[in-house]
Amino acid sequence: MQFLDLHTHQEGKEDGVRRILSLSLTRGMQFALPEDQELSLGLHPWFATIEHLEEDYSRLAEAVKETRVKLIGECGLDRLKGESLENQLIILRKQLKLANELHKPVILHCVRCFEELMALQKEMKVSVPLIIHGFNKDEELGRKLLEKGFYLSFGKAIMHANSGPADLLKHIDMFFLETDAADCSIQEIYQAAANLKNTTVEEMKALIFANWKKIMLI
Ligand SMILES: [Zn+2]
Repeated sequence: MQFLDLHTHQEGKEDGVRRILSLSLTRGMQFALPEDQELSLGLHPWFATIEHLEEDYSRLAEAVKETRVKLIGECGLDRLKGESLENQLIILRKQLKLANELHKPVILHCVRCFEELMALQKEMKVSVPLIIHGFNKDEELGRKLLEKGFYLSFGKAIMHANSGPADLLKHIDMFFLETDAADCSIQEIYQAAANLKNTTVEEMKALIFANWKKIMLI
């Protein structure tokens, strides 16, 4: 069984690993999509601008039709970087609408905007799974997000025992694992998760694939 890496910016293949490569199709980025790789495509809040939104969005809307594009994103909200929050919300709304139309799950970037994200989910009645990637906050916020119907993906933050994400992961079974831009391997992340849950890496792989199957809409 393979390691599913739900969100990575590392291009290329590795034996035994199924990677979903995340690319931002915002102006100035590389638009040539690597062959034979499963992808998630979005307008990343660090790079997306209102000024080029029409142009970026039409590029995105065309590219995401491919079946190997498994997720829309990463997209999201970031209080510390990028456009004003108001503009980020406009950019995110368009992508959530697109995801809804295409029935593809969304991978979300969220920095200090969890309330806004929950409000938006409610307001838009998003019907596709919304996965918050790189969750590294406390257990309480994690539980609240799960209660609202969000999904969580964990990265290297779970390698710190007693951190919020590590504590939360011990008690839940519906989650994903990822490397993002991390300087550690997906194997190490699965091992850390297996340790926290007192199980084996093979069992972790089975669990994550079962979770993936549950939310994949196409
Ligand atoms: Zn990322």
